[in-house]
Amino acid sequence: MSARIIDGKAVAARLRARVAEQAAQFAHDHGRPPGLATIMVGDDPASAVYVAGKHKASGEAGIASFDHRLPADASREDVVALIERLNGDPEVSGMIVQLPVPAHLDGVELTGLVDADKDVDGLTALSAGRLALGLPGLRPCTPSGVMDLLAEAEADLTGAEAVVIGRSNLFGKPMAQMLLAANATVTVCHSRTRDLPATCRRADVLVAAVGRAEMVKADWVKPGAVVVDVGMNRLAGGLVGDVAFAEVSAVAAAITPVPGGVGPMTIAGLLRNTVEAARLQEARR
Ligand code: NAP
Repeated sequence: MSARIIDGKAVAARLRARVAEQAAQFAHDHGRPPGLATIMVGDDPASAVYVAGKHKASGEAGIASFDHRLPADASREDVVALIERLNGDPEVSGMIVQLPVPAHLDGVELTGLVDADKDVDGLTALSAGRLALGLPGLRPCTPSGVMDLLAEAEADLTGAEAVVIGRSNLFGKPMAQMLLAANATVTVCHSRTRDLPATCRRADVLVAAVGRAEMVKADWVKPGAVVVDVGMNRLAGGLVGDVAFAEVSAVAAAITPVPGGVGPMTIAGLLRNTVEAARLQEARR
C-alpha cells in the first residue's frame, strides 16, 4: 500500500482564501478590517521570523497587523500595561504574546492576561476550559489545523481509536479534546507511556507531536491508519517530522508530509481565529 499524501499546503491555501473573503466582508460591514496584534519582547531571531511571517500572512488576508516590540529588559509592568491597552483597543481583534519571553518574565502568566475573546492562539485557561466544556471559543491553531487535515483525508472519527503522542498544553491536550469532541476514543501518550509502539498500533488515527525525528516506525502503525505528523525537527539535511515518512507511507492509508503537512495550517488557523474573534466582538457590542 502507498499512503495518500494529505496536502497541507493546498488545504491551508484554500483556508487562507476563504479567510481573506471573510475579512473583506467584515471590512465592508464595519468600515475597518479585523486586526491582529503581536507583542514581542527582546530580539530572539527565531521569534522575529515567526512574527514577520504572521504579519505577512495577515496582510495577504486583508487583516490589519500591529507589531509591538519591547526591549529585552522590559519590565513585567510594561508588558502587562501593553496587553491591557490592546485588550481594550477595538481595532485589535486578536493578540499574541510571542513566546519565549526573556527569563525574567513568565510567558504563561502574560499569555493568561490576554482577553479570552482576543486569544487567537487559544492558550489562555479560559480558552482551554471552553474547549474542554464544549463551549464556543477560540481554539488553538495547530490542533484545529489537524482536524481540517483529517477532514481532508475523510477520516471517519466517530468511534475510531485515536492516539495522540504528546501531552503539551500547546498541542497534545487540546488535540485530544478536539478528537474527543469529534467522538473518537482517545488515548494520550507521553514520555512515561509503558509500551508506546503497542499503543500506537491500536490507532485508526495516529497523531505524533513529540519533537523526536522519525521516532514513529512502520511497525508502530496499523495498516490503513491515518497518520498526522506534527513534529518539526531541524536536522542538517533539512526539516523532518516525528514519523519515519517513507516506511510509514507503505503501511498507512493517508499521511501528512513534513514539510507541507501540518506546518502551513498553523498560520492559516491564526488568520481564521482573528476573523472569528473580530466577528464575535462585533456581535457582542
Ligand atoms: P513539547 O511541549 O516538548 O511536548 C512534547 C511531548 O512529547 C511531551 O508530552 C513529552 O512527554 C512527549 N515525549 C517526549 N519524548 C517522548 C518519548 N520518547 N515517547 C513518548 N512521548 C514523548 O512539544 P510540543 O510543543 O507539543 O511540540 C511537539 C512537536 O510538534 C515539536 O516538534 C514541535 O516543533 C512541533 N509543533 C509543530 C507545530 C506546527 O505548526 N507544525 C506546532 C506546535 C508544535 P512528557 O509530557 O512526559 O514530557
